[in-house]
Amino acid sequence: MNTSLDNLTHKMQRAALGKIVDVALSHAEHDHEKTMCQLVDVAKQFYGSGFSDETYENAKKVLTDPDSKWTKLINCVLDQTDPHVARTTALNLGYEAFFRGTKTIRENRVKYQCNIPWLILFDPTSACNMHCVGCWAGEYGHKNNLSFEDMDKIVTQGKELGVYLYMLTGGEPLVRKKDLLKLAEKHNDVQFAIYTNSTLIDEPFCEQVVKLGNIAFMLSIEGTPSTNDARRGEGHYAAVLRRTGDEAPAVLPPEPAAKCPPELAAFRGQTGAALPEGKLLRFGDVCYLVPQALPEVKGLRVLRAGLELGAVLKNRFAPAHAWALWLETLESSVSLEESDPLLARYLSGDVLPSDKRGWTLVQADGLSLGWAKGDGSQLKNHYPKALRRPV
Ligand code: SF4
Repeated sequence: MNTSLDNLTHKMQRAALGKIVDVALSHAEHDHEKTMCQLVDVAKQFYGSGFSDETYENAKKVLTDPDSKWTKLINCVLDQTDPHVARTTALNLGYEAFFRGTKTIRENRVKYQCNIPWLILFDPTSACNMHCVGCWAGEYGHKNNLSFEDMDKIVTQGKELGVYLYMLTGGEPLVRKKDLLKLAEKHNDVQFAIYTNSTLIDEPFCEQVVKLGNIAFMLSIEGTPSTNDARRGEGHYAAVLRRTGDEAPAVLPPEPAAKCPPELAAFRGQTGAALPEGKLLRFGDVCYLVPQALPEVKGLRVLRAGLELGAVLKNRFAPAHAWALWLETLESSVSLEESDPLLARYLSGDVLPSDKRGWTLVQADGLSLGWAKGDGSQLKNHYPKALRRPV
């Protein structure tokens, strides 16, 4: 297949098939049935006696039956796929892989006296941006990657053997999306099927994928929303699905702000502690400050809803460590030098001598470390017990 005559024949065949596919796709919008019959006729011209006449007739029958699952699937693909992607897929998968590639593979099997697969699967990386329960990807770490040059070699050598379909798995292949776009551009006569958790697909990436036309995504979902999310994390199922049609996206009502408890208001009055922009939410006794735009979270399992401010306890407010870390300054604060032995005492959980009264912010070299509470002679330590370390 490597002579210049072969190359010319190849180019002419691909161009001729491209024209036929264009005509078929131009009818697709109005008449799916006609399009399917035309595509089966095109297949017959190319594959000829590779299949019996009966097979072609049966294919036409199934593909023009409005109740057949294949018709429904193909109609859905024709309606929803960008014409350039549909055309490139038809040429790469139908012509290069099924027709020309299969012939080359059969010849090479005889020539090299070994099996040659019809598709090649490789993992561009073992890294993944998710941590699903029971998956090895998290344990293998993020260091095992194929370089672009290695991936290019796999595809280049695969094409010489007749392989024109490549499945990419991982890890999460789209961790390497820049290199994959480069690969798909360089080998634009090859079809790539990428198995992905879908979370790294965004609009700019899709635009490039549509432009190339030879990448298809296989989105991973495991069962129902609850079984999927139990393994992959809350919200993954919803994140994979995408709205179709022209209807406006659903807008969730905003989460109503909670009333500021008097204990929190009193704490702020005494300390002058600043707050970021946002609205107040309460989960039981615990108060959080969340973005104004946060939609309703009712019914969702929320792990962290914004900045934890603290808890309302029997007529008093206990400020959270997170709020201390967010604060840059407070009217009552103690600033310790790195070399000050009091710093080590604070980090170990010990009391500090001080004439301050009430809630005080402890800082080291300008960085907020945590809370302490003074009684006029010493500061009681409120550094979290789990973070304390012995002097
Ligand atoms: S998305 Fe896939 S590769 Fe990543 S952790 Fe989950 S199962 Fe593993």
